[in-house]
Amino acid sequence: MKVKIPSHVINCQNFVNGQFQNAKGEKIDIVSPYNGKKIGEMHSSTKADVDAACEAAAIAQKEWADVPMKERTKVMFNFRNILLRDLEEIAHLKSSESGKCFAEGQAGLMKGIEVLEFAISLQNMDIGGRVEVSRGVSCEYRREPVGVVANITPFNFPAMVPMWTIPIALTLGNAYIWKPSEKTPLTSLRIAAALKEAGLPDGLFQVLQGGREAVEAVIDNKNVKAIGFVGSTKIAKTVYDRGTQLGKRVLALGGAKNHIVLLPDATPDLAGVGIADSFTGCAGQRCMAASVLLAVGEVDQHIKKIIERASSMVLGESMGAIITKTQVEFLRSAIDRAEKAGAKILLDGRKAKAPAGMEEGNWIGPTILDNVQPGSEAAGIELFGPIISIVRCKDISEAMKIENSVEYGNACSVFTQSGALAEKVIRMASTGMVGVNVGVPVPREPFSFGGTNASKFGHGDITGEHSLDFWSNIKKVTVKWEKQNDNNWMS
Ligand code: NAD
Repeated sequence: MKVKIPSHVINCQNFVNGQFQNAKGEKIDIVSPYNGKKIGEMHSSTKADVDAACEAAAIAQKEWADVPMKERTKVMFNFRNILLRDLEEIAHLKSSESGKCFAEGQAGLMKGIEVLEFAISLQNMDIGGRVEVSRGVSCEYRREPVGVVANITPFNFPAMVPMWTIPIALTLGNAYIWKPSEKTPLTSLRIAAALKEAGLPDGLFQVLQGGREAVEAVIDNKNVKAIGFVGSTKIAKTVYDRGTQLGKRVLALGGAKNHIVLLPDATPDLAGVGIADSFTGCAGQRCMAASVLLAVGEVDQHIKKIIERASSMVLGESMGAIITKTQVEFLRSAIDRAEKAGAKILLDGRKAKAPAGMEEGNWIGPTILDNVQPGSEAAGIELFGPIISIVRCKDISEAMKIENSVEYGNACSVFTQSGALAEKVIRMASTGMVGVNVGVPVPREPFSFGGTNASKFGHGDITGEHSLDFWSNIKKVTVKWEKQNDNNWMS
């Protein structure tokens, strides 16, 4: 299905205390990467906007903390049903603003709904625990809300990345401040409206549009106790440093440069589709996209399959657009530089044509670079586009040495039919997530999501079971009761 781009300009307001309202800062236009047309506008949040929203959230959270989890979960259950009801409409909207093709927009929201289902299941899980530690004495873990928590999200997943945390944080009793990307604020309106319709009390979910000024005001606000961030490594580190200097809990996920180790015994069809879809999906604009192919030994028949699959992508239908014109220029120049440095171009996305009627959009086709040198820009820097760099390696040890030398640590995959060789790669990978014959090794709930090295600053994971400690406080309770006599105490 083709993406339906809004024909009118949408006013992307803040959502505070259950009401949509304009922020007071500078005006920003929102342009669709598909056709370059203005589809939205918004005002950035000032410090005063942020402080008022956080203050109100702190008041609302006090009551929410006393609502039993089973009751909070009912709201989440309604929220799920509303998102499923409106799935198609939201998928069109988020694809229009982020450049995704329709199927990707839909899949991203479905992944968010999986997290929501995990949050709904928390009510039936033993996420605390109690043990009798001595005669008549018990120790108990009690999970309590942190208070007001915040999350700052990137452009590339306008629904999925925020949904990694919204349902879990709210179910655990927190109030939630969301600062979406200033490039993709449209989806936030639908998520806010869905939570209101689901019955979430006002003030518990506040959306603050804007950029740097809004982020800094959120971090600095005294009511905000925990800060999640997902975005580029440079900003992740800045947010982590600012928050932790204030003594706050911060988990900041950054960029990535993901490797795929391709071994000669891999199934060619599985590898061809898995690897091509990994680097072309979301037009390469995802933190789990394959970026470097470590081709071990003779794997040319597999590479032929990757080229075939990547060549079949239709811009505007099976592969989407790039977020900005500046980013398209950067990708083109990165390909130019790789070529000058000696890479052989097996598939050249610079030659791809824009879909008819979308000539003003931001387009580049899938690009495969061969004989890329380890340590070069194409092998070491996050490009964030549909480009894969093939680095030829003589054996697994050489391949893993290259993988280990890159600063990031999100994902690494191996394509092979050998369990023993797969195990070797799993053990040697420097990343937080590893795949075997899977091009995009995103774990599914209840498993957690999170990288290592420069892909993550802070401890724990952002979603799944290892996120629970981040979005809650653990109170340790030790109890001793005087032994009661055998009389019926009610008599
Ligand atoms: P970005 O870092 O430019 O922006 C992310 C957020 O930070 C946005 O909300 C933005 O408004 C805010 N921001 C921008 N500049 C800021 C500043 N100077 N101070 C404070 N806040 C600021 O990232 P992006 O371009 O929106 O997203 C793409 C990046 O996100 C890629 O690097 C990608 O790998 C990464 N990403 C990582 C993950 C992960 O799970 N590790 C997931 C998705 C995206």
